[in-house]
Amino acid sequence: MESRHLTLSNLESSNDYDPNSMSVEQARQFIRQFLVPISEQEIVGLHQALQRTLAADVLSPMNVPPHDNSAMDGYAVRHADLNKDATKLKLMGSSHAGHPFGGHVSAGECIRIMTGALIPDGCDAVVMQEHAKLDGGAVVMGSGHNLGQNIRLAGEDIKRGATVLSRGQVIRPVGLGLLASLGLSEATVYRKMRVAIFSTGDELRQPGTPLESGQIYDSNRFSLFGLLSELGGVEILDMGNVRDDRDCLKAALLDAASRSDVVITSGGVSVGEADYIKQLLAEIGEVVFWKIAMKPGRPLAYGKIGSSHFFGLPGNPVAVMVTFLQFVRDALHLLMGRQLKSAFTLKATCVSKIKKSPGRTEFQRGILTQDESGALVVHVTGDQGSGILSSMSRANCFIVLPVSQGNIEAGSSVDVQLF
Ligand code: AMP
Ligand code: MG
Repeated sequence: MESRHLTLSNLESSNDYDPNSMSVEQARQFIRQFLVPISEQEIVGLHQALQRTLAADVLSPMNVPPHDNSAMDGYAVRHADLNKDATKLKLMGSSHAGHPFGGHVSAGECIRIMTGALIPDGCDAVVMQEHAKLDGGAVVMGSGHNLGQNIRLAGEDIKRGATVLSRGQVIRPVGLGLLASLGLSEATVYRKMRVAIFSTGDELRQPGTPLESGQIYDSNRFSLFGLLSELGGVEILDMGNVRDDRDCLKAALLDAASRSDVVITSGGVSVGEADYIKQLLAEIGEVVFWKIAMKPGRPLAYGKIGSSHFFGLPGNPVAVMVTFLQFVRDALHLLMGRQLKSAFTLKATCVSKIKKSPGRTEFQRGILTQDESGALVVHVTGDQGSGILSSMSRANCFIVLPVSQGNIEAGSSVDVQLF
């Protein structure tokens, strides 16, 4: 992907750039054109590979299973021997998982076999032990058995050379199991992305310290830490909180950018402060400033400081989480070289009445459940103020109300995004 040079002048000359109003989708697309994925790779052991992004396709070096083996406990036989009502076969030995029968099985003979054990040479079917009777040194079984029955064939799960995981895929628990099942003890992944975070605001205090009048605890940094940790593949640089002071802010931004691929801050981008941070960023980097037609999360800054990407999120705790989930998360996935999963929405019946004026996309916090008939129903978590973090904590989804939508009557169908 070619990176576009980001300057305010070329943005301002582009048709869809309006810093005073941008739809959620326009803003997403806009940010996307400046994102160039990480290319540096490293090789890590399986325990370190969880949640990392594969930098190369993984081809299977072997067949899985590696040999024909039994799907049942029973007797391995030659199918051609089983053409009579009751066949009596001489029991020649046994094949256990990890302890194969070494010899060849000839006509009139059979082998005791356990699940997962190698099918002995000469055999082409397994008769379940429930369908056979031991009679001294022989085994008696009826007819009606099929050629190849109860045999798992070599390569039936994965053929040698098949692509089992692809570049850009995140390694999940099943991916670890899959790599191990192929005998692979390492994976080639993209390097971790370094993300620096800090909060801005003179009112902020660190949890665990006493509050003085007018102060509040800094919660955004911890929500962000959690959101970033969940992505995996991110090295988080927590830079604490920074006072609303131009020089402090400038120093913090420069320091953060010099040490990370992405800088995420919260606060200080609301209407009154926008010009101030815009000027500061114009001085040390390039910034695109938006009022996005959304609620919560109207102000959002995106830009670059040196080669670092900068996201200036709003200060209100719910707005931080909403803007992170709607814009930053996908941007980070792309920067980490990940395949983007298309975010799907569900339709649910909204049992709450919602007040809304057309003009902005709203992300109301909802609780999605099923009614007695199994249909999806959703209700709002109550007060939707953008500072009410408990509303986010009770919710399990966003109720997404499109720009043109007005009031919602109870019983209407709405779009829901599950967390
Ligand atoms: P701002 O965008 O800086 O004007 O902040 C908007 C609101 O969010 C104000 O009420 C701030 O006190 C609050 N706020 C800003 N940063 C944080 C933070 N890190 N943790 C909790 N609340 C915050
Ligand atoms: Mg502030």
